[in-house]
Amino acid sequence: MNYEAERARRIKLSPAMAVSVRARELRAGGADIIDLSVGEPDFDTPPHILEAAADAMRSGQTHYTAADGTPELKEAIVEKFRRENGLEFSRQQVSAGNGAKQIIFNALMATLEAGDEVLVPAPYWVSYTDMALLVGGIPRLVECPIEADFKLTAQQLDAAITPATRWLFLNSPGNPSGAAYSSAELQALGEVLRRHPRVLVLSDEIYEHIRHDGAEAPSFLSACPDLRERTVIVNGVSKAYAMTGWRIGYAAGPTELIKVMAKIQSQSTSNPCSISQAAAVAALIGPQDFVQEAAAEYTARRDLVIEGLSGIPGLKLRKPEGAFYAFVECKGLIGKRLPGHKPLESDADIAEFLLETAGIAVVPGAAFGLSPYIRLSFAAARPLLTSACKRLAEAVLALE
Ligand code: PLP
Repeated sequence: MNYEAERARRIKLSPAMAVSVRARELRAGGADIIDLSVGEPDFDTPPHILEAAADAMRSGQTHYTAADGTPELKEAIVEKFRRENGLEFSRQQVSAGNGAKQIIFNALMATLEAGDEVLVPAPYWVSYTDMALLVGGIPRLVECPIEADFKLTAQQLDAAITPATRWLFLNSPGNPSGAAYSSAELQALGEVLRRHPRVLVLSDEIYEHIRHDGAEAPSFLSACPDLRERTVIVNGVSKAYAMTGWRIGYAAGPTELIKVMAKIQSQSTSNPCSISQAAAVAALIGPQDFVQEAAAEYTARRDLVIEGLSGIPGLKLRKPEGAFYAFVECKGLIGKRLPGHKPLESDADIAEFLLETAGIAVVPGAAFGLSPYIRLSFAAARPLLTSACKRLAEAVLALE
């Protein structure tokens, strides 16, 4: 019996999850594995947020809520955009969902007609393309390699837009690259977009708080305020407040689009968890010390990883300005082999080699639409990162 509809056949399981599952299997078999494949903070959610959730449970906030967020959460989101981005939105222009992931899904589901194209600069967060495929869109990749600082240029954008283009996806700071666009770079993209009024912009700013060395990562709408009627800003509490499991993401955008997104959410998940919504209110309007402390720790870890990997032959690095990933070019390892083994032919081979021989789990660049690269997450304790870099260097030096 075939249970899988054509629509489901278009997509695959998250490759990062697949690596993580394999790492767990090896660990269960007794192997010493350092898992740098996961994309989530290794910190606990701050206590005042836990308290807010407990209070919500005790005070009876255990019922259905409005589909795309309680009035309190919507107000907290409005307040966040005002305080941190200098952007004014009304409650009707913001929406909360089960993670930024559902928000993005809602936006695509709300707008894409079959055959519409979604422009995705590669490397990209793994779910963008699969979500577009699932709702009948066509992802169009534009390669932005390390030599281009992993960023889309105005010329590339101009050349990639067709009459079928419906969305441009931007993600700054980016997963997996850690690259952040400057205001001038966003304005240059805006110049092109002004000539193509059908194209909507989805600016995924979920890593906005995780920036290194005071790097700037302006919101797309701060750089291009006049494009407000066709921009959706996506954000969430997962990364900034170590709340991946709570599943709260949010968006700001044009009232009419937010309304359609709410309609879709009301017929899929009804509403995000009421208790998580109360916790997200505390995260967004409560003390923000955790955010700064975590960002400083990620910066220290980034420095440790960049230093630990620099000088390893065959690898090319770029210092990420944001997020907690290093996306390392590994062209120089292709064709090399462990004595007696077959040559490494792809970044998937390299990731497998690192897992099986060095006990380090990383995600191959192919998962993010750009090869040959590997992504290492530095959302892990410093001793683990030091040890991983050492193992990686030893493994690479053993290749011939
Ligand atoms: N956007 C990017 C770039 C991400 O890396 C992630 C998670 O890894 C998400 C969105 C989804 O976050 P969540 O659904 O947990 O809010």
